[in-house]
Amino acid sequence: MRVLSGIQPSGKLHLGNYFGMMKRMVEYQNNNELFAFIVNYHALTSVFDADKLREDTFNAVCDFLALGIDPEKAVFWVQSDVPEVTELSWLLSNVTGMGLLERSHSYKDKMAKGISASHGLFSYPVLMAADILAFGGEKVPVGKDQKQHLEIARDIAERFNNVYGETFIIPEADIAEDVALIPGVDGQKMSKSYGNTIEIFADEKTLKKKVMAIKTDATPIEEPKPIEDNALFEIYSIFLDKKEKEELKERFLTPGLKYGEVKKELFGVIWEYFAPYRKKRELYLNDKGEVHRILQKGAKKAREHASYYLDLARKNVGLNYLD
Ligand code: ATP
Ligand code: MG
Repeated sequence: MRVLSGIQPSGKLHLGNYFGMMKRMVEYQNNNELFAFIVNYHALTSVFDADKLREDTFNAVCDFLALGIDPEKAVFWVQSDVPEVTELSWLLSNVTGMGLLERSHSYKDKMAKGISASHGLFSYPVLMAADILAFGGEKVPVGKDQKQHLEIARDIAERFNNVYGETFIIPEADIAEDVALIPGVDGQKMSKSYGNTIEIFADEKTLKKKVMAIKTDATPIEEPKPIEDNALFEIYSIFLDKKEKEELKERFLTPGLKYGEVKKELFGVIWEYFAPYRKKRELYLNDKGEVHRILQKGAKKAREHASYYLDLARKNVGLNYLD
């Protein structure tokens, strides 16, 4: 099975990214053909600071490698090193109805949050469709927030195939229900662009500050604490197995629990969980040459795959005017 997914370098990577997508990608690489990439073209829809984009792109690459992407097993690259996707995106644009994009939740949500709406932001799902279709992606591990974008990609692929004949594989979203939408410190979806994240690789002091800032309700200490819509409970739960989660639930339902103490405990859990990856990350951060080699090799392989689908699409729409 060809498994494919990308992540934006639109800020520092966070727990939502890791559990929603990255962790499963790493698991998939052992028994599947894995395609993983850092989508810096996409990040251009929300990042307008070139230095920041460069830094966050390099960091995202090192993060993903540190967290277990194996460049010997997976094809791993930075999106802008495979410009074929932008050309494919244009071919797809012409079979994409305006209405389909106007209904995109993520575009509507970002508009509602005051993020300026450019044409790039509006056509984000078309580029995302190109990202998937250019590599023949079959299964796409994502968080629930990307469900609709995946449906749009499927619609675009189906429409293209209907108009021009069988060209693309129809991809399928792969969403893990228990970690589908991890809340941020303010209780909304954890998002780089919402400034509510708990970063995977924050330093100790920052991590503690972020965890302590998780918004909790004003239930008195002597009363049972709610489990529903409780960001602290939800974030803690992702680090626990079924039995441990039941125990945590019991603790929340037992009067006397202090949110502050649970937060301190959670900080320790997160810090320990990522400790082994932190060391590996340092190695990559300090070896730009090696990272460059990995990405060049990845981009070369990725371009071969993208060229296949792009050439087929060019031919099927009739750009091969000498044939
Ligand atoms: P941005 O705010 O710039 O959109 P983001 O934090 O949403 O950034 P993306 O790069 O858009 O991150 O998403 C990368 C992957 O992580 C996607 O598969 C997405 O579904 C997943 N993801 C992002 N946030 C969460 C979350 N809070 N819970 C679960 N999965 C998430
Ligand atoms: Mg997002």
